[in-house]
Amino acid sequence: MLKIENLNVRYGVIEAIKDVSFEIKQGEIVALIGANGAGKTTILHAISGLLKPAGGKILLEDKDITKTGADKIVMMGLAQVPERRRVFAEQTVEENLELGAFTRKDKEGIAKDLEMIYTRFPRLKERRKQLAGTLSGGEQQMLAMGRALMAKPKILLLDEPSMGLAPLLVKEIFSIIEDINNQGTTVLLVEQNAKMALGIADRAYVLETGEIVLTGTGEELASSDAIKKAYLGG
Ligand code: ATP
Repeated sequence: MLKIENLNVRYGVIEAIKDVSFEIKQGEIVALIGANGAGKTTILHAISGLLKPAGGKILLEDKDITKTGADKIVMMGLAQVPERRRVFAEQTVEENLELGAFTRKDKEGIAKDLEMIYTRFPRLKERRKQLAGTLSGGEQQMLAMGRALMAKPKILLLDEPSMGLAPLLVKEIFSIIEDINNQGTTVLLVEQNAKMALGIADRAYVLETGEIVLTGTGEELASSDAIKKAYLGG
C-alpha cells in the first residue's frame, strides 16, 4: 500500500535520512521506532508531502507521490496525526474535526463520520464546543486522531501518539489505534515508546541516525536482546 524506496532527506548539508527503504501492506500496523533525532518525524513529513526528499521514491498504492503536494496526498487517502498533536487551539473541538474533512465534499458522509468520531471518543462529544487549546494532553491527542480520521484515510500516519501521556491514557490511545486498524485503516506508527509500539505492530523497523538497522515482526523485535538493551530498559 505504501512503499518507500531509497529515501534520502537533507537539511542543508546534514543527511537526516540515508537510503531508507520499507513498506507497509494493506491492513498492517507497522511501527517505526528509534531514539530522539533518529529521523522518524522527517520520514513521516517526507511521506505526507511536507518535506521534499533529496532522493528516492514514495509510492502510495503504486502511484508515485514523491513530488505530490500535501493536500493532494490527503485526498489520495493518506492522513497524518502530527507530533505534539498540533490542534488548532483557538478553534472548538467540533471546528477542528470539521477542518479534518477539508478535502471532502460529501456533506452527509461528513456528518455521519463526525457522529462516528463522537462515538469512538465520547470525551470529544462532551467537549464539542470547548476551545481545543484548553483540552488536556490526552484529549488533544484524541482530537488530533479524530481530525485525521475525518479525512477518511486508507492509511493513517501517527507521530508519537504516546508523547507526554500518563500510562493509562497511553494504553487507551493504543487500544483505539488497534480498533481503527481492525476497522480497515492501515497504520504507520512512529514511536519512542518501543514497548507499546511493538506490542501492537505486525511488523516494525528500527531507525538509528537516519538508517534502518533492524526489522522484524513486533514480537521478534520485542524479544530481541539488542532491542531490549537499547529500547526496552534491559
Ligand atoms: P524525535 O523523536 O526527537 O522527534 P525524530 O526521530 O523524529 O526525533 P527528526 O525530528 O526526524 O527525528 O530529526 C532527525 C535529524 O534531523 C535530527 O538530527 C534533527 O536535529 C535534524 N533536523 C530535523 N529538522 C531539521 C531542520 N528543520 N533543520 C535542520 N535539521 C533538522
